[in-house]
Amino acid sequence: MKSSAQVVVIGGGVVGCSVLYHLTKRGWTDVVLVERNELTSGSTWHAAGGFHTLNGDPNVAKLQEYTIGLYKEIEELSEQATGIHVTGGVMLVSNQDRWDWLKGAHAKNRYLGVQTELISVEKAAELFPLMDPSKFIGAMWHPLEGHLDPSGTTHAYAKAARKNGAEVYRQNRVTELNQRPDGTWDVVTENGTIHAEHIVNAGGLWGREVGRMVGLELPLLAMAHQYIITEEMEEVVNFNKETGKELYHVIDFDGEIYMRQERSGMLMGTYEKNGIPWHEVESPWDFSMELLPPNLDQIADNLERGFDRYPPFQNAGIKNVINGPFTFAPDGNPVIGPVRGLPNHWLATGVMAGFSQGGGVGLALANWIVDGDPGFDVWAMDVARYGSYANLAYTNAKVRENYGRRFSITFPNEELEAARPLRTTPIYDRLKENNAVFGCAFGLENALWFQEKGKEPIDEFSFRRSNSHPMVAEEVAAVRGGVGMIEISTFAKYEITGEGAETWLSYILANKIPRKGRMSLSPMLNPNGKLIGDFTIAKLDDERFFIFGSGNAQEYHMRWFEQHLPESGVTIRNHDLDLVGLSIAGPKSRALLQKITRHDVSHEAFKFMDIREMDLGLVPALVGRVTFTGDLGYEIWVKPEYQRVLFDLLMSEGEEFGLRLFGGRALNSMRVEKSFGSWATEFRPIYGPVEAGLDRFVSYTKNDFIGRDAAMKEKEEGPERKLVTFTVDALDADVIGDEPVWHDGEVVGWVTSGGYAHNSGKSVAIGYIPAKLLEDGSNGKFEIEVLGEMRPAALQNEPLFDPESKCMRT
Ligand SMILES: Cc1cc2nc3c(=O)[nH]c(=O)nc-3n(C[C@H](O)[C@H](O)[C@H](O)COP(=O)(O)OP(=O)(O)OC[C@H]3O[C@@H](n4cnc5c(N)ncnc54)[C@H](O)[C@@H]3O)c2cc1C
Repeated sequence: MKSSAQVVVIGGGVVGCSVLYHLTKRGWTDVVLVERNELTSGSTWHAAGGFHTLNGDPNVAKLQEYTIGLYKEIEELSEQATGIHVTGGVMLVSNQDRWDWLKGAHAKNRYLGVQTELISVEKAAELFPLMDPSKFIGAMWHPLEGHLDPSGTTHAYAKAARKNGAEVYRQNRVTELNQRPDGTWDVVTENGTIHAEHIVNAGGLWGREVGRMVGLELPLLAMAHQYIITEEMEEVVNFNKETGKELYHVIDFDGEIYMRQERSGMLMGTYEKNGIPWHEVESPWDFSMELLPPNLDQIADNLERGFDRYPPFQNAGIKNVINGPFTFAPDGNPVIGPVRGLPNHWLATGVMAGFSQGGGVGLALANWIVDGDPGFDVWAMDVARYGSYANLAYTNAKVRENYGRRFSITFPNEELEAARPLRTTPIYDRLKENNAVFGCAFGLENALWFQEKGKEPIDEFSFRRSNSHPMVAEEVAAVRGGVGMIEISTFAKYEITGEGAETWLSYILANKIPRKGRMSLSPMLNPNGKLIGDFTIAKLDDERFFIFGSGNAQEYHMRWFEQHLPESGVTIRNHDLDLVGLSIAGPKSRALLQKITRHDVSHEAFKFMDIREMDLGLVPALVGRVTFTGDLGYEIWVKPEYQRVLFDLLMSEGEEFGLRLFGGRALNSMRVEKSFGSWATEFRPIYGPVEAGLDRFVSYTKNDFIGRDAAMKEKEEGPERKLVTFTVDALDADVIGDEPVWHDGEVVGWVTSGGYAHNSGKSVAIGYIPAKLLEDGSNGKFEIEVLGEMRPAALQNEPLFDPESKCMRT
């Protein structure tokens, strides 16, 4: 065994072996993998081996497609068979909501280039004669589905990596991880210590325990999962004979079942409600190549439903029941990437679909280790999407929920209930008294909209306009016509102090730093000139600054800030909920603010983008003249102990102006009619500032800053695509995001977000299209596919509301 290596990968499941292979593919050959037992001895060996590209996040779906394409490559390189069968697959639905969802998924696939096809039930029954057609209403065909041999595939990755120079040490558990002062690692194993520059936790079933070796409580939990294998089935044999083909893969969403052919019989797996965690607190180290005892009672309801929907199963004998554990994150996506505060420590954990996702995870992580950037938009898999709220108890509740919902629909207006409420601000009860319908972001409860007094504050979940629609309309009208108040504690607020603060900020942010008492907008770029942040920056004093940004990205941004902090002279503090906020907006907001403060807040004394510390009533507050509504308005930041008093004050003093509470849905409605982009939808690490229309907030000549050269190049060469706004001739459904944009009968782009702009009475979509379509001045016909229906769309060259921004600025 080597005593040092550039990278030590811990864990020889399909994921660890893929990471190892991809590191060698990137040319890093001084890399080793340490496996406690034999390769595959965690969750990998007993997997059903199915694969597909379906994922709620199109960027993850792309990486799944990459994974499937990779199997030929590793097979050839390693000369080890993966047992791959690309059979194609059918996804079956039996209710209208799921049909809407499937049409949306199919539409999304068009811009991803994934070749799916919506088919009739009759056609589906021809492809999969075991089904009872009367139980279904539609289906989607996808050629890129199939199954493989989990063990062969894992060994193929490992052999290919070895051929490229990697080494694999089996029967050798990693027992300790110690970081040296220079950031390198001592990996203590049963057979000695390896000194490594980087380490990768690919511990699978024990990813959580490997995390604990360095004091991390990772949001991971393994659940017991079962599938059955039948004896030979006559119907299967006949189908094979008649068609010369294997039966297709099936996912039956409403049945919560997946199926494929296994020899001359069938494999049927199911995700039952009330799934059982494997070990809630500690996974036993002495478990390997083992199964759990069959527990058919646990899945009896699902099997009964399955046998009813696929009658030939009723006469088939069950040959085998496989019950094995595998690991999930709270949202079911992988947990990968660098860990904040632990240099050179990488995660490749929480991969619940190793044969669909393992290749993409390996590629992204290897890129990240070698280049400092994953090379893709991996936000949906990044460990930084979770904060410290995602503790053991939270993970336990959320993973159980996710497991039971594996094949359930999550509607765009649906907020999942497990582990809530968890984080609340002092006005939570006040908002509740006002009949708020809450959402949850980064563990924090926030008001989405306010239900009429006397009615139950619940959303009716739908892909179409829901019961919130008329109430949100009223909230918007209150703001645009008078004044409204929203809580904005979900924003991130960072305070940067020190003699080096301004120089440092000007190096990590792309815009100029504002003058004292002023704010400006600034993107943050990575070295490739892509957007990794979109902030409001405020200068309070020579050595004191604030940055406001997306609360969901606070771990992601703090990780970046800390990686780039100088050794001395700059201190950064994430206030999180040590600072909470309220915002008032609308033409009467100035009068309301003036009523509660002795400071002069007239337009002349307190201009757009000014920021001041001032007393509001008794409350010391930081007030900035800006809002995301695109109207006259203010953001007010206070310590939590003052928030209730301030809320009560604004509510009572606001009465004479008709003050009304509004929530996140109304805010979205107002920002889309201003064509304001937002982090994680319009602004993501795959877009440059010119593409996203943020170049007016980039000061290309101020001084050197991260991403400047690449951003300059984008500006000089011109962008490939541009962010634009459309009005959509919608029926009863507005865009959600990820719908394809068509131009003269061809898919040319995609929607990032949108919604109904109540004030303008228009349905709005924001998204990216090729820049040349704008340059050509093309007035061809645009359409957006909303829930599978082509809806005419018109390019909106200026914001629908207040195009000259007079409301904000005067
Ligand atoms: C019944 C069942 C059916 C499934 N069906 C499918 C399917 O059809 N398609 C699909 O894509 N996925 C399926 N899965 C999920 C799939 O098995 C996982 O996604 C995959 O195995 C995850 O691989 P991994 O490498 O992350 O974890 P693991 O396979 O658990 O590998 C982790 C490895 O790390 C080693 N290790 C841990 N700690 C240490 C340490 N301290 N020192 C050294 N080594 C260590 C372990 O011994 C283990 O070998 C199924 C799972 C189950 C249980």
